[in-house]
Parts: sequence; structure tokens; C-alpha cells
Amino acid sequence: MENLSQKTVLVTGSTSGIGLGIARAFAQAGAKVMLNGFGDDALIKQLCAELAMRPNQVRHHGANVAEANEVRRLVADTEQEFGALDILVNNAGIQFVAPVEEFPEQDWSAIQNVVLNSSFHAIKAAVPGMKRRGWGRILNLASAHGLVASPFKSAYVAAKHGQVGLTKAVALETAEHGITCNAICPGYVRTALVEKQIENQAKVHGLPREKVIRDIILAVQPTKRFIEVEEIAAVALFLCSESARSITGTAISIDGGWTAR
Ligand code: NAD
Repeated sequence: MENLSQKTVLVTGSTSGIGLGIARAFAQAGAKVMLNGFGDDALIKQLCAELAMRPNQVRHHGANVAEANEVRRLVADTEQEFGALDILVNNAGIQFVAPVEEFPEQDWSAIQNVVLNSSFHAIKAAVPGMKRRGWGRILNLASAHGLVASPFKSAYVAAKHGQVGLTKAVALETAEHGITCNAICPGYVRTALVEKQIENQAKVHGLPREKVIRDIILAVQPTKRFIEVEEIAAVALFLCSESARSITGTAISIDGGWTAR
């Protein structure tokens, strides 16, 4: 495993799910880690202690990434507290499902803010330091929905396609500065975000959860199994290694064959 003890990583939305899995993998590889996301203070404190392999290796910042000012402060505080920000993982995300003609405007805006706008504000704030140091890694946790659509997810699909576009533009602009920028596009991973969708679909269709999982959720995923958080974290770690220095501007699918159709 790559030794990342000289690197600092910020993972937005890392108090649960994929972000937490990525943060855990980076902490195990020795990196200093800034967690971010919502949750109970005591549980978050416990999480920092559990992930850290040495004192002060893992900290948490409670910024709400839907707010541009808070994203800028998150990046600035990470640089100040750890001395640099070498690896930025834009992972925070939320979902809302509704037909486009009924889609509540506040939910549309919230998804754009948390997913796409926060990625832009964080990248804008982090790139100057990365350029100065001549090294950086930016990972945007997009989705299979950054490449293809599903009905009733207009806001999420638009934001995720936006993240993939942003990835390409930033990759071109930073290519000569030792910085890479890539999107990771997972299929379904069984996290809180997906649990909520299973719950909703079961209610809407009046179906048992196991039927929703098999016939609706995993219907699009040819492997017919959920992707594990650890599979996403392993790819994130690889993209931050020296071996991956020529991989930039790509959207890497980890989707059990979903987008091969
Ligand atoms: P999750 O709900 O388990 O975790 C989301 C995290 O984001 C939590 O830590 C939460 O506190 C944080 N968060 C939410 N709003 C925030 C805000 N305004 N400010 C700061 N933090 C905030 O979700 P997940 O499934 O782990 O999703 C992580 C990312 O992966 C998202 O961008 C999601 O769209 C993407 N993704 C998930 C799946 C999947 O199947 N779970 C598939 C493809 C892509």
C-alpha cells in the first residue's frame, strides 16, 4: 500500500457511507484526514479516535457544504490545521426523487448546492495550494448517474453529469501542475442514501423491501449485488498513488456493468 503519511486529505460528507469508507482507507494508508459531514458530536469524536493510528491524525470539520462560504472555510481551515491540502475528495451528496413537473424547487437547489456547487467551490479554493506545491489529487464522487439517467432523478442526474464535466475541465487546466482530477462513478452501494430510496420505493409500490432491491434497485446492475464501500475506497487510493499520475480527466465506473448496456 502507498504510504501517504506526508499527505493530507479532505473528504466531504465522510461521517457515513462511501465518504467514511474512503476516509478510513486514507487514514490506514497514513494520511492526515479531515472528516466532514453531519452527525452526533459524541459519535463523530468516537469516529475520529477509531480511524486515527496516531494522535491528531484525523479531525472533523462541521461545514455545511451547501454554503459556498462554509466550503471555502473548510478548505482554508484544513490547510491551516494540517499545513496543506493535497487530496480533495468531493463526496458529499443527497438525493431526492420526483417527476420533473412536480420536483420541488428547494430540493433541486439543495442537490445542486451539495453535489455540484460544493465541488466547484472546494476545487477553486484547493487548487492554488496544489499548484504551489506542484502536486494534487482531486476526486469527484459522481455516480453511474453522471453518465446515464434514471427517471425521477432529474436534479441528481443533472448535478452528477455536471460533476463529470467539471472533472474534465479541471483536469485540462491542472495537467501541467502535477495535479490529477478524476470522477468515480459507482453503481448502487448500500449506504444510508440508498436505504432511504429502498424505503421510499417500498412505500410507493407497496412492495416488500427484498423485492424492491431485486426488481427495482439492482435491476440496472448486471452483477445483481451491491458494491461495497471498500471497493470504492480501493480505487480512490489507487488514483492518489504515483502509478496513477497519468490518469486524469476520466470518469471511472465501478458499477457492476450498469453503464455497459
Ligand atoms: P450517505 O448518505 O451515506 O452519506 C452522505 C454524507 O454526506 C454524510 O456524511 C452526510 O452527513 C454528508 N452530507 C450531506 N449533506 C451535507 C452537507 N450539506 N454538508 C456536509 N455534509 C453533508 O451517502 P453515500 O451513499 O455514502 O454517498 C456519498 C456520495 O456517493 C454521494 O455524492 C452520492 O451521490 C454518491 N453515490 C452514492 C451511491 C450509492 O449507491 N450509495 C452511488 C453512486 C454515487
